[in-house]
Amino acid sequence: MQPIRIAIVGVGKIARDQHIPAIVGNPAFKLAAAASRHAAVACVANFPTIEALLASSVTIDAVAICTPPQQHYEAARLALARGKHVLLEKPPCTSLAQLDHLVALAAAADRTLYQTWHSRHAHGVAPAARLLLQRQLRRVHVTWKEDVRRWHPGQTWIWQAGGFGVLDPGINAFSILTQIITEPLLASAALLFVPSNCEAPIAAEIELTGASGVAVTVELDFRHTGTQTWTIDLVTDTGAINLSAGGSVLSVANELIEPDANVLAGEYESIYHRFAELVASGASEVDARPLQLVADVFMVAKHIAVEAFDMRVA
Ligand code: NAP
Repeated sequence: MQPIRIAIVGVGKIARDQHIPAIVGNPAFKLAAAASRHAAVACVANFPTIEALLASSVTIDAVAICTPPQQHYEAARLALARGKHVLLEKPPCTSLAQLDHLVALAAAADRTLYQTWHSRHAHGVAPAARLLLQRQLRRVHVTWKEDVRRWHPGQTWIWQAGGFGVLDPGINAFSILTQIITEPLLASAALLFVPSNCEAPIAAEIELTGASGVAVTVELDFRHTGTQTWTIDLVTDTGAINLSAGGSVLSVANELIEPDANVLAGEYESIYHRFAELVASGASEVDARPLQLVADVFMVAKHIAVEAFDMRVA
């Protein structure tokens, strides 16, 4: 079979760190082009915009959209209108209606829309979901604390409206919660701490309630300079389950569970494996629940002004 000729749209941190290596390492794909205002990818055709890419004579079958979320909808819409398959980074869009519209456009164009949640590909997530099917959940606590200067250096978009602020990593935790907990999760209360020079929160305290009444508390903080912490602690009727390191490490009753021997090494390796399967079978994959939770958190939240944040990296 011919490889899927793919273009990267938005060459920044995640494109360089993850997408390009995952594409280059997967024989189902051929990296054919890139569209980015300033950056370029070596050895492929480069364009300043997705419009220029789509109007060019370079043949592509698919695009991977790696711009900030504020540009996701428009880039995906243009690509689907030109008959391209679309892999969409998280957070997929800045509104639920945008995502719904992309789903409809992909169906009408008979193209694949793969809306990715990379944290769901972390090693501990699938086995944790299987374990929880056999247990009664009592309560859950999420701690997602990281240093924004380290993980998002110079990214002003994350502080702007539609940039999600600390809900940008927070949506990764929501993507795991909605994958491993089968009952609907409802946002009941939230405090969003917004620096006086920003449009998006730097920290959040969130209460979710499962449809059965189970309490899920979530602490998000972008100001954390100590040990970087991405953990989900679940208390069940038969003991504790703990996901740490963003879902890649699973412990049950404090005992480490080794990953299955046959799982793919990296989250993005697994994502591109899945994208190739979806394109081959003519299917799409979209799950709006993590985005829905973020939207609901913004609706129920109290916004608390906090001191201006100095975004400069030391
Ligand atoms: P980034 O480093 O800022 O890269 C995004 C690139 O998009 C920029 O370098 C920029 O390249 C291009 N771009 C196009 N329009 C832009 C605009 N109006 N404003 C700013 N940049 C624009 O961001 P990133 O960390 O790669 O994140 C991109 C997406 O991936 C986000 O949705 C993010 O949530 C997701 N993601 C990030 C990570 C991570 O660890 N950083 C992990 C997983 C997912 P040009 O200047 O050349 O146009």
